[in-house]
Amino acid sequence: MSTTNQTGQARTFVVANQKGGVGKTTTAVNLAAALGLSGQRILLIDLDPQGNATMGSGVDKRVLDRSVYQVLLGLASIADVRRRCPGAPYDVLPANRELAGAEVELVGLENREYRLRDALVAVGREYDIVLIDCPPSLSMLTLNGLCSAQGALIPMQCEYFALEGLSDLVNSIRKVQANFNPDLQWIGLLRVMFDSRTTLQQQVAQQLETHFGDKVFRTVIPRNVRLAEAPSYGEPGVSFDPASRGAKAYREFAAELLERLDAL
Ligand code: ATP
Ligand code: MG
Repeated sequence: MSTTNQTGQARTFVVANQKGGVGKTTTAVNLAAALGLSGQRILLIDLDPQGNATMGSGVDKRVLDRSVYQVLLGLASIADVRRRCPGAPYDVLPANRELAGAEVELVGLENREYRLRDALVAVGREYDIVLIDCPPSLSMLTLNGLCSAQGALIPMQCEYFALEGLSDLVNSIRKVQANFNPDLQWIGLLRVMFDSRTTLQQQVAQQLETHFGDKVFRTVIPRNVRLAEAPSYGEPGVSFDPASRGAKAYREFAAELLERLDAL
């Protein structure tokens, strides 16, 4: 069954969390690869000047002649800038540090929150799913991501302070929904870097289910060193070591996400 909506435009999901180092990029890259391998047509957008999703997809951020920066400023189209990931079947719209300047340059532009959404219209029919990897902030870049999406995927570690940051994030997303993007319909929480031997992590994982119910994905991503090693080979963990526990978990997550989309 196709995951596109009635308009034929791809469904778009943003991977966001204002906390740094919580697994956003690992989730975006591996989900893109797992969905691509299952036959979905995928575009992964790197909206982070760190360019980690770009490098992790095997595209060298240091030698790009154009990036998502030009797309946001209206100087290039997505079709001009996107690249094919060499190790797994998906396209990536790359980023590098040049993107940090967009934050300031967007301020003076009209429709500054909707630059990415508007750029996506031209390629939306070529994909089933678009995934957007955000920087660790609630910046104009992240707002562009949130304004383009129907759903927000929030990776989180099961630590005590994670819960505190989470309510801020959920409130921010609700505000975006109310003021900028009524299409942002749902939020899904993904537990990542999980260590089942730690009692505290088990407790927090359980609390999340109690508080957030079916907003929490069933799939839990374990802490797995192969997922951490894969980016240095310029490949998603899912294709770098398909037999690893991490790869298996991200494939399960991709299947769970597709199942949820079918039910929408
Ligand atoms: P930032 O906020 O800087 O963009 P991020 O939220 O995108 O960070 P990642 O870069 O995905 O986080 O992950 C942070 C670090 O944790 C990386 O070194 C990554 O390889 C590692 N990591 C992520 N997920 C896992 C996992 N399941 N098991 C082991 N290591 C992981
Ligand atoms: Mg990241």
